[in-house]
Amino acid sequence: MSQIETDSLIGWGLIGVSTIAREHMRAAIDADPRSRPVAVLSHSLRRASDFARENTIANAYDDIDEMLADPNVDVVYVSTRNDLHKEQVLASAAAGKHVLCEKPLALRLMDAVEMRDACLQAGVIMATNHHLRNAATFQSMQQLINSGAIGTPLAARVFHAVSLPPALQTWRVHDPEVGGGVALDITVHDCDALRFLLGAEVVEVTALSAVQGLASNGLEDGLMGVMRLDSGLLASFHDGYTIAHGGTGIEVHGTTGSVLGRDVMSQAPDGDVYLRRGSTVSSVDVGQRASLYEQAVLRFNSAVLGEGFPAVSAEDGLRSLAVALSVRESVRSGRAVAVPAVPAALASEDG
Ligand code: NDP
Repeated sequence: MSQIETDSLIGWGLIGVSTIAREHMRAAIDADPRSRPVAVLSHSLRRASDFARENTIANAYDDIDEMLADPNVDVVYVSTRNDLHKEQVLASAAAGKHVLCEKPLALRLMDAVEMRDACLQAGVIMATNHHLRNAATFQSMQQLINSGAIGTPLAARVFHAVSLPPALQTWRVHDPEVGGGVALDITVHDCDALRFLLGAEVVEVTALSAVQGLASNGLEDGLMGVMRLDSGLLASFHDGYTIAHGGTGIEVHGTTGSVLGRDVMSQAPDGDVYLRRGSTVSSVDVGQRASLYEQAVLRFNSAVLGEGFPAVSAEDGLRSLAVALSVRESVRSGRAVAVPAVPAALASEDG
């Protein structure tokens, strides 16, 4: 396990010159005075070097082993294409680096299980970068639900269909082999959001897909479906890449009221929360808003320093992956699919 000196900065190695690293995570790492980005890896040394120069990062690599041997790298942030996460997380764990991995953790559930177990055995932290839990809006909705403000939750609706920016209309919409498609990209977030708000597990899913102008090669660019949670609650979801004007949201309807999140399925700390009882709708003050990604880094750094837990665990990432893969299987088979159980961690089995 890498030892972090409490009087030195936590060095982050960025695995992947990705859009999310460029637009959100690099700045988020810098925003915590306890950490700084120290290295970046791309398949192309030119891309890594350009990114390092533009972002004042000391070292650029095109060889993961060299990057993982960099003594300044304490933790890694994996944000490459989905098919690459597994090998990069396994290599990082073997090198004793803590890992914050992007969703979906992998393309297959058992690959993600292997990643979780490798991190556990190496004694490093592994977390998943589901961002929505870090939003003031989501924390406020969770608090309302837990405090009984809507009574017993009975049903939920998630609308998370967006317009995929042209720059991202690459592997996501054309390449099933590398993990493209709406289910692995967006439905994973819906699942994590529902689990966070409701404290319940998704146990069954049914879904239909659509191809409406962007996707090819058997991938979907639209999905609608229903998830059944072990609390008995049913949640409908609509995810997609071709809906430019719909806005996003999540609603939970209970026996005595409904909590409504509008435009909250966002990378920005945006959106509003309302509590509705009958025809009375009250706006909820969600308090201080902060960057969702800065919160993810703060929580991860605290966990690395032994002062807390990551916002979203590897286990959470496993469960959202299991649900997204079941959604895919439902689309393929035309049947409702029981979400498989996630195998227990080796460490827990050992007691
Ligand atoms: P990108 O498509 O921007 O980048 C993915 C990889 O593609 C990069 O790591 C890079 O490889 C390669 N690549 C990208 N652009 C180019 C280019 N112009 N030329 C050559 N290669 C290129 O990925 P995203 O940032 O959209 O997504 C990355 C990961 O993050 C995914 O797993 C995704 O699911 C996740 N994600 C998570 C979000 C969240 O809120 N949690 C939001 C968005 C994405 P290399 O690194 O080798 O240069």
